[in-house]
Amino acid sequence: MASDASPWPVPADAPAPDDLSRCVHCGLCVNACPTYAVTGLEAESPRGRIHLARAVDEGRIELTAAVQGHWDLCLQCRACEAVCPSGVPYGRIMEHVRAQVAADPPSGGRARAIRRFVLRNVIARPAVLALAVAPARWYAGSPVRAIVRRLGLAARLGRIGALEAQLPRHPGRPVRPGTRLAKPHTVTGRAVLFTGCVMGELFGGVHRATARVLARGGIAATAAPGQACCGALQAHDGDLAFARVLARRNIDALEGDDTTIVVNSAGCGAAMKEYGDLLKDDEAYAARAVAFATRVRDFAEFAATLPATAARLGARVTYQDPCHLAHAQHIRHEPRALLGRITGCEVVETAGGDMCCGAAGIYSLTQPQMSASLRARKAEQFRQHHPDIVVTANPGCQMQYEAAVREAGIEARVLHLAELIDEAQRNAR
Ligand code: SF4
Ligand code: SF4
Repeated sequence: MASDASPWPVPADAPAPDDLSRCVHCGLCVNACPTYAVTGLEAESPRGRIHLARAVDEGRIELTAAVQGHWDLCLQCRACEAVCPSGVPYGRIMEHVRAQVAADPPSGGRARAIRRFVLRNVIARPAVLALAVAPARWYAGSPVRAIVRRLGLAARLGRIGALEAQLPRHPGRPVRPGTRLAKPHTVTGRAVLFTGCVMGELFGGVHRATARVLARGGIAATAAPGQACCGALQAHDGDLAFARVLARRNIDALEGDDTTIVVNSAGCGAAMKEYGDLLKDDEAYAARAVAFATRVRDFAEFAATLPATAARLGARVTYQDPCHLAHAQHIRHEPRALLGRITGCEVVETAGGDMCCGAAGIYSLTQPQMSASLRARKAEQFRQHHPDIVVTANPGCQMQYEAAVREAGIEARVLHLAELIDEAQRNAR
């Protein structure tokens, strides 16, 4: 319920009027927006969503279920932010309007409460998450999966079936805080590998590949103990309070020196680079959060600074930019530069390579139709360009592309950039 003084249920986390008023309605963001591309509706564009937030902020309209629906459909991909000439901080605005919806949802309150419970008590609790994910890990590599697929059973299971299509083919053993990783012959530097939540459980193979690539560049990476989930999923869902709890945990666990924190999940890296903003009103943590954020590097950003290692892979590869790498962290060149170092690797660019794939954290569960539309657009591009390998740099995108190629019957492997580089480096030995 909004207070008398503020139209927002949680005034302390309300979108800042200064942020909202930066939008001059020029519309340059509209064609970059995936939900506008699919619907053609102004209300499903960044300009439309900001307009609604401003109208609520100024008390001209109420925060109704219809308004919530337009915000809920936003992927928080930040493609709009990247092209906005006025510097509208769209990602921050949307996290703050989501916090308002989460506090007093005009519709879908029960689903939201369940989601919050899971994000707090399963995703953010390593022991519980490990238990919850264990059956999926077993299933992903078991013969049962082939039988389920042959019989078409997954298609009858609705959202569970959609998740089945997204499961990695080979999750690898989990990498958790404290897990031992590959070490270099000669150590020239050190780094902390951020292990994350689902990433560590379902993409242990990516973490190990990351550590091997770093090791060949002389970097000893450790999965430092005590680190927690980054808080991105919770923040995007409007649970800023718990995202702050997780950010403080990571700062407590990983501060103390200036070791680089390498992150191979674009969504986590973007969130961690913005801890300073998330904790700006926390007296005890504000300065520490800013210092922490300066140590965070995406895998590609960091690997591109290391000496080149011989690498060979004869394959046609398409790199698909994760939104939180291209739009939030502005890292587009480094992944392509790393691919360019691989002998025999032919890189093909596809139309919309930097447009959201529809994964967007838990979006494929909350907005399955829009997510499927965006996935199908990607599949269409893959069909036109017939890559041998689809490469990306974020676990959610990787899962979405697994589903895209499978649904479209495309014979292409889906790899994380670190996996592809690791494979190419091993080929060249
Ligand atoms: S968000 Fe930026 S690009 Fe979009 S309409 Fe507003 S000022 Fe223009
Ligand atoms: S964040 Fe993405 S989906 Fe949301 S308005 Fe911006 S471009 Fe559109």
